[in-house]
Amino acid sequence: MSQSKREIRHVAVFCGSNAGLGETYEQAAAALGAALARRGIGIVYGGTHKGLMGILADAALAGGGHVHGVINQRLFDKGHLHMGLTLHEVVESMRLRKERMLAIADACIALPGGIGTLEEFMEAWTLNQLGEIDKPVGLYNVGGFHEPFMGFIDKMIEQKFLPREHRNGIVVQADPDELIDALAAFEKPVVPKWL
Ligand code: AMP
Repeated sequence: MSQSKREIRHVAVFCGSNAGLGETYEQAAAALGAALARRGIGIVYGGTHKGLMGILADAALAGGGHVHGVINQRLFDKGHLHMGLTLHEVVESMRLRKERMLAIADACIALPGGIGTLEEFMEAWTLNQLGEIDKPVGLYNVGGFHEPFMGFIDKMIEQKFLPREHRNGIVVQADPDELIDALAAFEKPVVPKWL
């Protein structure tokens, strides 16, 4: 049976603590921050001013959005906290930080980024797959950045490590508003994980 539209009040955003090559990623991070603010959706993220993370937060704040940073003690001590956030909290470890972000969020979005971004995204997808959480996860596929990753997912399917239907266990979109709409309309695949 079709599920009704999800209410998304907070989105956890995972993205590069570097800004990436050229201006495309920076513009995309700013567009997502602005779109979330315009739609009245709060952001919870790693709380830093660095890279795409800082650009996302700045754009959301400039649009009157609510931005909640969850940073760990070590990065806080190094001075990585964005000083203009709506609110922030400092937690003991990176693990607790992820747990806290997922507890607050109704959905997750990963932008282009490095290994930290990928790790956060994969944990959220895995927890959904195992039924530990029901918080849809999306890739903001700026400039086709995530295509090689989806190619690796296809390899998992081909080699029978992942059910084909689970490719639809995440949303992949290049437009911020379409991505948010797709997360709100998301219906989880009902096929079991084990082949
Ligand atoms: P990366 O993609 O490797 O740059 O890592 C970015 C992800 O890891 C972000 O979504 C953050 O949650 C976390 N992270 C990495 N560096 C920092 C930092 N300086 N401050 C806060 N979080 C960070």
